[in-house]
Amino acid sequence: METIGLIVPCYNEEPSIKIFYDEVERVFSEMHANHVDYNHEYWFINDGSSDNTLEEIKKLRENDENVHYVSFSRNFGKESAMSAGLENVGGDYVAVMDVDLQDPPALLPQMIKYIKEDDYDVVGCVQKSRKQNFVRAFLSSSFYKVINKMSDVEIKQNVRDYRLMTRQYVDNVLKLTEYNRFTKGIFSWVGFKTKYIEYDGVERAAGESHWSLYQLLEYSLEGIVDFSDVPLKVATWVGGVSFFLSLIGLIFVILRAILFGGSVSGWPSLVSIILLINGVQLFCLGIVGNYIGKIYLETKHRPKYIVKEKK
Ligand code: UDP
Ligand code: MG
Repeated sequence: METIGLIVPCYNEEPSIKIFYDEVERVFSEMHANHVDYNHEYWFINDGSSDNTLEEIKKLRENDENVHYVSFSRNFGKESAMSAGLENVGGDYVAVMDVDLQDPPALLPQMIKYIKEDDYDVVGCVQKSRKQNFVRAFLSSSFYKVINKMSDVEIKQNVRDYRLMTRQYVDNVLKLTEYNRFTKGIFSWVGFKTKYIEYDGVERAAGESHWSLYQLLEYSLEGIVDFSDVPLKVATWVGGVSFFLSLIGLIFVILRAILFGGSVSGWPSLVSIILLINGVQLFCLGIVGNYIGKIYLETKHRPKYIVKEKK
């Protein structure tokens, strides 16, 4: 029998663990009743939780040998948790899913069907309706527009990290060993035949989301810097154009002084121009700095996470 490996990142999810486990068990026994038989194994990644998340996982492990876990020495973030999962998980097919049931396990039978019957390598999930305020919705849709314009990767709006993948696809994802990880981009970059299914968004089963607006902005910036060098080109163009315009301005001023004489006037405009150019320079320097920062972090070759316990 083939096996589906489930990667489940958990950060302070004490109340959700058991609910999640029960739901997945329900889905697999339902599949069994419909004569769709798969083994499954869990890989819970405890991302440095400060509550009893790990204890909850260990409780499951006592009664179920298929429950595995990797526990980090501190919080490394969901990206690192997903890497740890991908590196450890076994199975012929692998799914990444959130523990809060916002990635409904009930979609798994449909996903596996696409891979088995229609020859897809990956099935990703796109959230259709999403309750979020106007600012977040606007920022989110702008982000997808920008990143799709700026980079080679194509990222669907509102795509979740929830996806079912073949072993071959996972092995190829593992070849991308970068430290700065933007998984949505990595998944798309790897390619293969991907099917997206849509589903209505659901509220968290328990607990609360850990994302602040600032973290989302940082995450977006990460995505753009990791997958595009367009900002660097923009910096070059802005520099080039402002140089060209200043040159014309300078020639104009010199010619005027030669032809008509007179003293230099208009220092307020001079000051504004200097400030403007300075602003442009700092902006471009900031863009370059962002990339240098990434290079700096990559060259240190630090591990993406530290494991404290694993079973
Ligand atoms: N998560 C994690 N490390 C973190 C933050 C979140 O492993 O630093 C996990 C979290 O436990 C959950 C998933 O990532 O299983 C998604 O997190 P959350 O529900 O907070 O995000 P949202 O669904 O709001 O995008
Ligand atoms: Mg969630």
